[in-house]
Amino acid sequence: MSDCLFCKMVSGEIDVPKVYEDDDLIAINDINPQAPFHILIFPQKHISTLNNIGEADQQIVGRVFLTAKQIAAEKNFDQSGYRVVANCLEAAGQTVFHIHFHLLGGRQMSWPPG
Ligand code: 5GP
Ligand code: ZN
Repeated sequence: MSDCLFCKMVSGEIDVPKVYEDDDLIAINDINPQAPFHILIFPQKHISTLNNIGEADQQIVGRVFLTAKQIAAEKNFDQSGYRVVANCLEAAGQTVFHIHFHLLGGRQMSWPPG
């Protein structure tokens, strides 16, 4: 997707420091962090919303959570606790239409989210 922000990060057209990268996934620091640790984990493959995930994507989506716990452990907030959240479409506040999972940690969080 030529006009997609995260696809441009995948292709290197936009250079961004990576927290984690493998053949399927990339993780970056959020530009507007909502917690001491706020990392975005997203597939290299363009999928616009959670509604567009297919059967063939289940391994990649599952690996998002393995990557989240790995990053949390590396950054030492796995034991204090963290949140992984994905927003789908406007009512949830999705602003970048390439699926991504927010990994938030390093502070006490409340529930329910706003
Ligand atoms: P959403 O609102 O779609 O769930 O989350 C999009 C996230 O992407 C937001 O938390 C926003 O701060 C982050 N974001 C938007 N543009 C950029 C950018 O250019 N670089 C980085 N690192 N994060 C971005
Ligand atoms: Zn994309």
